[in-house]
Amino acid sequence: MDLDLQKNINIIIVDDKIDNVVVLEASLEREGLQIFTTTSPKDAVQLCIDNDISIALIDVKMPEIDGYQLLGLLKQNPLTEHILVILITGFSMNSEDVVKGLRNGAVDYLFKPLDLYITTAKVNSLITIVNHEREIQRKNSELESYQTELQKALEQAEQSRIVKENFLANMSHEIRTPLNAIIGLVSLLKGSNIDGHQREILALMEISSTSLIGIVNDILESAKIDAGKIEIVRSKTNVVDLLQKICDLTRPMAAEKGLQLISEIDKEVPPMIMADALRLNQILLNLISNAIKFTESGTIRVILRVKEKNHEGVLLDFIVKDSGIGIPQSALDKIFTRFEQIQDKTWQKFGGTGLGLSIVKRLAELKGGELNIESKVGEGTSFTFSNRYKWSDELVTVNSDQRKLSDFPKLDDVSILLAEDDEINQYMISKMLEEWNIKVDAVANGLEAVEKLKENNYNLILMDIHMPVMNGYEATRKIRTEMNDAKKDIPIISFSASVIERERDEAKRAGVDDFMEKPFDPALLHRKISTLLNKTEAIDL
Ligand code: ADP
Repeated sequence: MDLDLQKNINIIIVDDKIDNVVVLEASLEREGLQIFTTTSPKDAVQLCIDNDISIALIDVKMPEIDGYQLLGLLKQNPLTEHILVILITGFSMNSEDVVKGLRNGAVDYLFKPLDLYITTAKVNSLITIVNHEREIQRKNSELESYQTELQKALEQAEQSRIVKENFLANMSHEIRTPLNAIIGLVSLLKGSNIDGHQREILALMEISSTSLIGIVNDILESAKIDAGKIEIVRSKTNVVDLLQKICDLTRPMAAEKGLQLISEIDKEVPPMIMADALRLNQILLNLISNAIKFTESGTIRVILRVKEKNHEGVLLDFIVKDSGIGIPQSALDKIFTRFEQIQDKTWQKFGGTGLGLSIVKRLAELKGGELNIESKVGEGTSFTFSNRYKWSDELVTVNSDQRKLSDFPKLDDVSILLAEDDEINQYMISKMLEEWNIKVDAVANGLEAVEKLKENNYNLILMDIHMPVMNGYEATRKIRTEMNDAKKDIPIISFSASVIERERDEAKRAGVDDFMEKPFDPALLHRKISTLLNKTEAIDL
């Protein structure tokens, strides 16, 4: 039994006649009940406070203070208001007086001469009530302490989520920046005069760095999904075009392994639907890359078919079917778990992080779709992503821009201030801008940017977010608030290699006009610059 419940229950008998007190006391005596008595109603309130009284038996007729008055005093005092009071009175009492006592807070009456059975029964029932109240109180305080603990745990979880997010923002910046620089430099080198051997080395460097950035991106993507940072943005998408482009992109990869990659698109598939092209691309690319990776010979079929159609939209099945090594039945559930790979020599030789499918599965669910799998060891695997899409009435062609830097319209008479602390990135971005005839001044931190802007006139600033001495937010705020009227509204595009949404929001609050993720897509950068500077040559993507 609970400690609190085992605690004595204290009862007080208040009667000016000592004989009555003695008889009552004798009849109530038992284990677990501590009895206090007094013949002086004046002392009763203090006695109740001092002895933590739970039940009071009070005679109504007493000199100086009668039972009703004493009841009133107990009920007025916050330290005694909880006491359960039984009034003791003679049989001659009229019903008005009985009601008066009950109204004033008494719980019951005992009538003289006292029937000891009734007295004991009533006191017993009050003891039960007191025990129940104690139990409720104990449960309440237990509940309160659980609530406090829960609140603490929630705060801690929130705190560690923020720490994790910040770590992620920094890590993504720190890793992706030099990696992007490597990829950019490799592509610059490829365009220069090099011999065949150097070209081979460059090709290997390209493969390694691209695969490394793929892994970093996967880890970040996975963390982003965890943090609820992935948004599904549906827009008019030419789904047939999208699928064909992915197949064109992956076909050379398949051909290198001697595999055929064929796309089969149901004629019923409507070209334009409302879809999240970015995530659909990601899902299909992952499934097709896996199919190529785990197939030694034969064919990869990429099938798009209509499963259902009605006035609202269409249910599409995207199927990626390979003739590869297959997946054992026992592993079918596990492969969607993060970092899980099949623990068997046949599968382990392929390497990988075990992240791809867990991302695909979670993305598929975020899109409101389903990912299903059928597989037979030695025969092949078939992944089906089914998703419902709404119709789109407008016809828009989705074109990815394949132009070389030098093919973009020139942006003559434009001068840009570039604030970027990473020397290599600074070099690459400057080169890109100079290809478009833009005059570039480069500085290494926010403070230098502010100083440089004071001295010279520019049409636009490209501002990195993470920089030493003064970061991009601070520099933007300074420009927006402290510069003279002619310069304080200069268009600013900020950029960062991290993927955290919060950074975009903060940049917006600081006053930037636009935001870009590194590495830059040249077409997008050109378009953003043109738009901000109202150049008519703006590229229509
Ligand atoms: P990774 O390929 O980086 O290891 P994934 O999450 O993409 O990670 O895949 C998890 C595991 O599922 C793989 O390691 C592989 O064992 C198995 N798997 C995925 N796709 C296929 C496939 N098409 N055929 C056979 N096994 C596959």
